[in-house]
Amino acid sequence: MAVVINKVGVIGSGQMGNGIAHVAALAGLDVVLNDVSDDRLKSAMATINGNLSRQVVKKIITDDARKQALNRIATSDTMEGLADCDLVIETAVEKEDVKRKIFHDVCAVLKPEAIVASNTSSISITRLAASTDRPERFIGIHFMNPVPLMELVELIRGIATDDTTFEAAKEFVSRLGKQIAVSEDFPAFIVNRILLPMINEAIYTLYEGVGNVEAIDAAMKLGAHHPMGPLELADFIGLDTCLSIMQVLHEGLADSKYRPCPLLVKYVEAGWLGRKTQRGFYDYRGEKPVPTR
Ligand code: NAD
Repeated sequence: MAVVINKVGVIGSGQMGNGIAHVAALAGLDVVLNDVSDDRLKSAMATINGNLSRQVVKKIITDDARKQALNRIATSDTMEGLADCDLVIETAVEKEDVKRKIFHDVCAVLKPEAIVASNTSSISITRLAASTDRPERFIGIHFMNPVPLMELVELIRGIATDDTTFEAAKEFVSRLGKQIAVSEDFPAFIVNRILLPMINEAIYTLYEGVGNVEAIDAAMKLGAHHPMGPLELADFIGLDTCLSIMQVLHEGLADSKYRPCPLLVKYVEAGWLGRKTQRGFYDYRGEKPVPTR
């Protein structure tokens, strides 16, 4: 059964969720943004407004478009608020048990033909799909960070994903003005399969004392023309997310070359998760980021 996507639910209003809500609303879709508390939703709406306003200043969108986009986003801290969505995208923390519980709860309120997607960076789409009542209407829609700026979205079919779901997801992503890369359902898909081992290696380079934070980032920015250094990028992605992806690669591919660097584990244990907690490989609490090693 073909599905026309007019209303999109986004579960998790963190850095990815607020970005997905932002681009979907700008593309003219109705959005319901969900999170565990009203406080998180308020701060997500403030972030979305701030990011839209920045686009107005840069003349990428008009102020009228900003206002209309904001009006298209409703918030809800219950699953019932998502009941009439045609597509729901889960983008909560990268923990399989949390995601499974979300799918269990949301599928109970959705109409049978609604499509369910995960923005997971690394977890098997086939396995997540199998835990729902609709594996054929389940798909991976993997956005890049920051969502309003990055052109690419990876689409990942699980074994059971049917053609109408895949076509509807393609149409949805195109409507957002994004390009598609189709990836097979293997750990971390394409972008993160390549990117995360590089970041992990940069952390090993720091751990083994080959270079300090500044030297490693400068080396890759100036020596390989990367727009951000790998440690700066790790802070931007979130060190907990980086660690989860390395663990999925390590376990999923059973190859020791993917073992997470102990220093990455230590930063996560300290709660130094990067920009979102103000400290990671850099300390962001002052005017300028200061390396922490
Ligand atoms: P984040 O920590 O910024 O946000 C996660 C949000 O999920 C939080 O607001 C949290 O309150 C909410 N949440 C937790 N449990 C929930 C529940 N049961 N119901 C509803 N909301 C819940 O994380 P993020 O960086 O936005 O990452 C979210 C997902 O997107 C992860 O699966 C991650 O792997 C993936 N992803 C991240 C990036 C990145 O660069 N950060 C890029 C692509 C994909």
